[in-house]
Amino acid sequence: MSDYPIVNKKMVRLNRKLKKNQKEYRKEYDTGSRRMSGNRIGKLVKLSAENPVKDCSEPETYCEMGPDAEVLIHMVEQSGLKGMSGNGFLTANKLKTFWQAQQKKRVLIVNAVECDPGLVHDEWILKEKASAVWMGIEYLNQAFHFETVMVAVKGKNKKFLKAEQGRIRDRSSEGRRDENRSIETRSDKTQSDKSRRDESRGAESRSLESKGDGWSVKVKEVAGRYPMGEEHFLIKELLGIPMDKSEIPAKSGILVMNVQTVFQICRLVNKLDTDARFVTLANLKTGEARVAYVTSEDRIHTLLEAIYPGKGTYYAGHGVLGAHKAAKDETFAETINFAAVGEDTLISDQNLCKKCGGCSRRCPMGISVKDIVLAREKNEKADISRFHPEQCIHCGSCTFFCHASKNVEKIVQGGGVLRMKKQKVSWIIALVAFTLTFYWVEFSPWSSQAVASYNNGYGTFDMKQYHVEDVTAVLGTMQKEGFTAYNRYLVGDSLFIVPYDFLLALFMNT
Ligand code: SF4
Ligand code: SF4
Repeated sequence: MSDYPIVNKKMVRLNRKLKKNQKEYRKEYDTGSRRMSGNRIGKLVKLSAENPVKDCSEPETYCEMGPDAEVLIHMVEQSGLKGMSGNGFLTANKLKTFWQAQQKKRVLIVNAVECDPGLVHDEWILKEKASAVWMGIEYLNQAFHFETVMVAVKGKNKKFLKAEQGRIRDRSSEGRRDENRSIETRSDKTQSDKSRRDESRGAESRSLESKGDGWSVKVKEVAGRYPMGEEHFLIKELLGIPMDKSEIPAKSGILVMNVQTVFQICRLVNKLDTDARFVTLANLKTGEARVAYVTSEDRIHTLLEAIYPGKGTYYAGHGVLGAHKAAKDETFAETINFAAVGEDTLISDQNLCKKCGGCSRRCPMGISVKDIVLAREKNEKADISRFHPEQCIHCGSCTFFCHASKNVEKIVQGGGVLRMKKQKVSWIIALVAFTLTFYWVEFSPWSSQAVASYNNGYGTFDMKQYHVEDVTAVLGTMQKEGFTAYNRYLVGDSLFIVPYDFLLALFMNT
């Protein structure tokens, strides 16, 4: 099932609560520069005070030592753990690729950016489960011996990790594994910018600066720009290494793991269940969101109905910028991070492009989205390969910002563009057919009125009930021309039903 944005800028403007949340979150986030992306969407939903809906079990203490690389990969493989970012890829495959690359300088990036504006469960994990996240990082480091570990967060979320920093620092000062660990938090923007510039310079040679035998953990705040959490964007922002969409970072010694995947690795090492995961359950009408630990057996409708009773449309997907209408019996498959109740979306295939160019300006991949839309509006089969739509990372920005509330991302992916034109043609055909058949049955020489002129005003007998004796008497006196008109009227009446139903269906779909 294809997922597309279910909310756009216009819908946010019309919803006071979503607009307020967006404004508040944007104030919390570092604005960064437009260099990476011009999009600042902010969060549209806010963590409710009543959380979580369902939590996971926790151990009294976490074990100190994790397994080595081979054993950890085997454990992850056996568990069938999949990436928690919603792509559904097997985590074991990523770890294997990374380990088999045998790069000397290894970097772990823990992705806690959670840039989709409808997701808040990573924020909640940082807030409530930071110790498990840190332990997950320790286990990964014990297995893979990273030179650098970075935890990438947005806005004030880094404060949630601070509480655990002291504990890690104490552990490292004990010299438990004779390793030189350092924890750095860089809230100072000047320092952050300077290091970013330094990293960018180092990145030109595509190498990662070594710091001797030790490893360091850095909590790095990234700008509140969308889609900063996308793997390649994050690597460019943190390490200054530009990578093509087709390049696999793990092969270059860069392991990017979603914060919840790290959390699950901690659970795995501690022999806790990993067949459930945290997801966001949002109410797009009130702008609140809750978090639940769900399994693939849990039904989306049941859970949403329980916490957000009342009418609404149910959605599910990897985020508010990539979702679909949830089927009645749909469950939380591994690609679903987000479920929501909301209004019907205003985003439509049928709106015509206003040629404003907003979509092209908002595309973080620099795709000429407007040209694709215009080319496809002219010709459904237009060759758009010269605009490189394959570079699309399915972020949904073009659809979110479209001034015509058009599902632009769908068009980039090859669908939906000519529905408007097809519908226009359908409306014209239906209206013409309706008018002709309506004239036939009401005003033509074979209309109901014409028939009535042959049988003393009784007409076609189709508007009310008559006694059989009356009908027989009336028809018994009707002339031959009357029967001819009557037969033709019946043909017209049968044809009239077709455009009438067609128009009704078009009207319902509008
Ligand atoms: S074309 Fe693709 S990458 Fe560009 S904004 Fe649209 S969805 Fe994002
Ligand atoms: S598709 Fe939307 S954003 Fe892009 S040019 Fe047309 S109206 Fe503007």
